[in-house]
Amino acid sequence: MASAASHRDGPSDGPKKLTILGSTGSIGCSTLDLVQRNPEAFQVEAVTAGTRVKELAAQAREVGAKCAVIADETLYGDLKEALSGTGIDVAAGHAAVAEAAAPPADMVMAAIVGAAGLPPTLAAVRQGTTILLANKETLVCAGDFMSAELSAHGATLLPVDSEHNAIFQVLEDSQPDAIEKIILTASGGPLRTRELHEMRDVTPAQAVAHPNWDMGAKISVDSATMMNKGLELIEAHYLFDMPSEQIDILVHPQSVIHSMVAYVDGSVLAQLGSPDMRTPIAYSLAWPQRMKAPVERLDFAKVRELTFEDPDPKRFPALRLTRTALEDGGSAPTILNAANEIAVDAFLNKRIRFTEIAETVEETLQSIEPRQLDSLDAVFETDRLAREVSTGVVARFESGGTAKKVGVA
Ligand code: NAD
Ligand code: MG
Repeated sequence: MASAASHRDGPSDGPKKLTILGSTGSIGCSTLDLVQRNPEAFQVEAVTAGTRVKELAAQAREVGAKCAVIADETLYGDLKEALSGTGIDVAAGHAAVAEAAAPPADMVMAAIVGAAGLPPTLAAVRQGTTILLANKETLVCAGDFMSAELSAHGATLLPVDSEHNAIFQVLEDSQPDAIEKIILTASGGPLRTRELHEMRDVTPAQAVAHPNWDMGAKISVDSATMMNKGLELIEAHYLFDMPSEQIDILVHPQSVIHSMVAYVDGSVLAQLGSPDMRTPIAYSLAWPQRMKAPVERLDFAKVRELTFEDPDPKRFPALRLTRTALEDGGSAPTILNAANEIAVDAFLNKRIRFTEIAETVEETLQSIEPRQLDSLDAVFETDRLAREVSTGVVARFESGGTAKKVGVA
């Protein structure tokens, strides 16, 4: 992956031009909050959203964006009307979102959820710009391909995901041989203490009720299954060029230590902070400097204790599935990601049970012959096939069918 450290130049004069993909989401709104508190530091070029026209139009007006793009083409008229007379350019459709990701911008915040973020993120990579990556699914579904494109175009990837941002802050990448392992911390999610036999009946409302973080629905369900930590394992592999066996996952319910790096001399470096995404977002927006973020300061006397435990593979089979997919390589992570997106959507729409998310992913992985992915077309084709297969698995569960192979080991 293109080394961020090699781009530690001083800041350019004037405000940084910033495009925000997925501006109406949780990460997008936190980014805009920081931008609005620092109006001299940033000029917002483009904001994009999936379907929320009103919010998108309001954001574009508030920050004086040059352009607003809605992915759903049927909403073009609504967006145009909402921004009429403002001089803000309006566009619609997935191709227009990808076009908005190309310059003129110094930085692109990639905060679309899911593999839908891949084409626009890739468009930004191909302009050699700096990408602030929240959209982990892009690296999971096309990690090898993205790594090659980043190198080919000299683009810089700054991790926004709190764990990877923490690692980035404490990683001495000038001495790769001195790094013994990366320790990814996990809150354990809202079901950390739930009994195995209760998992099947977990509702969407229970699954999205995260104890520490306020996030979009998909990543909240991923946190409940711990698929999120598995996706982050694959994300860490690509971001930091680390093999699976050098990346540990450790449950840390307080979410104060955001991840750690262990070195050969026995030192362990960690980054700590309140669980508020505005800290890692601020770090990536200001990098290689730092900027103020209005987050609650850590009060260690109030935190009192930091605790740790091993994750439970029985109740959270997604961890096993993701590690195996990473070790298998090729198309396996792409299949896993697509099947998970389909299954999470079905669960949120009350079509399948909570435990059937991992079962859908496992069955989809078993049903598709793994292959090497040597082009973007191959990535898209695998993603499409995995969505088709997992949609079939979901339909069987919905009509009362059972798992072909029980996902819980
Ligand atoms: P969210 O659901 O709150 O927001 C998603 C954004 O993407 C919205 O603006 C939505 O309009 C847009 N979008 C959705 N589907 C789209 C499509 N098909 N085409 C174009 N735009 C589309 O999600 P979020 O919680 O902000 O997460 C965004 C990404 O950041 C995810 O990849 C997530 O894993 C990652 N992330 C989020 C957090 C967090 O705290 N929320 C933390 C770490 C990483
Ligand atoms: Mg994270």
